[in-house]
Amino acid sequence: MSAPRIFRPGATIGIVGGGQLGRMSAMAAARLGFHVHILTPETNSPAAEVARGVTLGAYDDEAALRDFAAHVDVVTFEFENVSATGLALLESLRPVRPGRVILETSQDRITEKTRLAELGAATAPWRPARDAAELDTAIAALGFPLILKTTRLGYDGKGQFPLPDAAAFAALDVAALPWPLIAEGYVDFDREISVMVARGIDGTVRCFDATQNIHRNGILDLSLAPAPVAPELARAAQDLAARVAEGLGLVGLMGVEMFVTADGGLLVNEIAPRPHNSGHWTMDACLADQFEMHVRAVAGLPLPPAMRHGDAVMKNLIGPDDMALCDAILASPGQALHLYGKAEARPGRKMGHVTIRFPFGALPGEAGISAALGPLARQRES
Ligand code: AMP
Repeated sequence: MSAPRIFRPGATIGIVGGGQLGRMSAMAAARLGFHVHILTPETNSPAAEVARGVTLGAYDDEAALRDFAAHVDVVTFEFENVSATGLALLESLRPVRPGRVILETSQDRITEKTRLAELGAATAPWRPARDAAELDTAIAALGFPLILKTTRLGYDGKGQFPLPDAAAFAALDVAALPWPLIAEGYVDFDREISVMVARGIDGTVRCFDATQNIHRNGILDLSLAPAPVAPELARAAQDLAARVAEGLGLVGLMGVEMFVTADGGLLVNEIAPRPHNSGHWTMDACLADQFEMHVRAVAGLPLPPAMRHGDAVMKNLIGPDDMALCDAILASPGQALHLYGKAEARPGRKMGHVTIRFPFGALPGEAGISAALGPLARQRES
């Protein structure tokens, strides 16, 4: 087998997907002297606005995929739900990093959980529930409470059906469920954390510090970096992320979301082989952020240490209410504002984020974080 190719500044990185993750990856690529070409079905996408070129087309449109490939040297993703045939076509035309197998693993929750078990990574107890008969078997095995999730295309809590008890199940219109599903035992977690892990073509692994993630209405609201957990637990989370990245043969960047259980155990919830919202804090608190790590790994360049030089709180700006606070954020000297250039602030839409920096080791507790968030904290309570 020939050695994996290295792409140096001046080459063109192709990014599948036109959202904010693509936008920030493109900005990091530009900083290193790369060109970026985007594939997206969306006109005026956040990523295309900061890229050299764009192919407008559907992710499974053969002509669009061929046009996209013709403009780029190497392909990566900010959105991983490309069809198997689309991925196979891209792979026949250009190097694709991360590769097809890891993308397909992350696209399907049953495949993902099966693979995680093979790699020795613990998860919530689960059973396939691809039809009504399997759901009955799953309930018999797992008991209540449990959560049903669509196996594919679920995000930000969409495609989830919590079943706290038998009465909730009895009230469910089973025939109308979006099969196939996976049934997961409900984890009464202590907190949610994630680790961003990068792996280069030479096998070098870099893990950013674990982050605590706090959700609101099913969408990530706050990330605290570093996660306020015992150092041994933070280290175990990084080791787990590294083991999964190595086991899956990652080349690129991956977010590994985990639950911390009451007894200090770690259960992997899901993996995302791309930059991740819970890694945005790295832009303001690390020498090389998650997007630069992504670009370097995809290009085959050396990966710098994932060195954090400060503590940080990241707050997502979601919908019109948060966007109304932009003037106040701009007037707050300690807040770094990142906007994604989206024209319309629909409710629930991620419009940007803010990072609040603290000196290294000085991440405050809840009251201190609320004080630092100022008007943004009041928004959270409303
Ligand atoms: P997901 O779409 O799998 O990332 O899940 C979205 C959110 O739902 C997670 O961040 C958790 O807050 C919650 N959640 C998902 N799976 C479980 C589970 N098995 N037990 C308890 N909470 C869960």
